[in-house]
Amino acid sequence: MPNEQTKEYFVGVDLGGTKILAGVFDSKLELKGTTKLSTKSERGPDKVIERIARCVQDALDECDLALAQVRGIGVGTPGTVDAESGRVIFSPNLSGWKDVPLKKELEKQLDAPVFVGNDANICTLGVFEHEFKGKPLHLAGIFIGTGIGGGLVINGSLYFGHNHTAGEIGHTIIDVNGPKCGCGNRGCLEALASRTAIFKKIQSGVKDGQKTLLTDMLGPDLADMRSGDLRKAIRRGDKFVQKTVEEAAEYAGIGVANLINLLNPEIVVLGGGVIEALSDEMMPIIIKTAKEHSLPGTSKGVEIVASKLGDLAGITGGAVLARRSL
Ligand SMILES: [Zn+2]
Repeated sequence: MPNEQTKEYFVGVDLGGTKILAGVFDSKLELKGTTKLSTKSERGPDKVIERIARCVQDALDECDLALAQVRGIGVGTPGTVDAESGRVIFSPNLSGWKDVPLKKELEKQLDAPVFVGNDANICTLGVFEHEFKGKPLHLAGIFIGTGIGGGLVINGSLYFGHNHTAGEIGHTIIDVNGPKCGCGNRGCLEALASRTAIFKKIQSGVKDGQKTLLTDMLGPDLADMRSGDLRKAIRRGDKFVQKTVEEAAEYAGIGVANLINLLNPEIVVLGGGVIEALSDEMMPIIIKTAKEHSLPGTSKGVEIVASKLGDLAGITGGAVLARRSL
């Protein structure tokens, strides 16, 4: 049987509204293997927790490892998380998740220490430690996907805030008269620059008679539209899609400027599915807009970059969280 010394692996879990991704890392944070499972959120928290446990075990099995060799597991989950107790207080993207003792339940099922955090916070931690080797003192992460999440590293540590909700850059308000956001406010960054916001704008444009290659590619309802489809359309010369994506990038740039003015970080790193798919199209505009809207002197030497970790940021951050917590 493996003894304490052989417990040298960490597992990072990225719990999303549609899929669960688990990755096994060695003590140097090198990725050994991953496994993906659908979340099936509609089945409720208990079933989802069982699926997380199964995903972790499958990932270990893929690497020919056993739970007994795992030192700790870190889980990034959407919504508000009490990091200390490991309870998910509320998660709008997971049905029925209200005050769910995720840490306790997973520890029961997996017999290993489990640590839980907000997904965008965990992605920021992963990028900070893996991509930037934990060097910057101050770093802000913005992750643009279905929604927009963020995380803040201040003085080398992840900043949680009074109610563990810090870093919600997606719900900073950019335009008080803007479109309605899922949170109830108007004109949040998320309502202007997320994938959901971009898709809505394209869909309403098409309804108003806008011509786009997307309808040829996906049909008149634009069913199953993905960020990659937008990239394809733009590269084939679709001006409407290009303009819509550029507008979203400008809003994201204003979000970055606000962040720079407020926190003056060394690095602002962007990630998430939208940035991954549309980095070439969006990053130059985000950088230009952010520099134009930050106070004189504030953005000097501040790096605004796209993360190279892609969708591995969440599992990497999970492993980092577990390693830092033990
Ligand atoms: Zn909002």
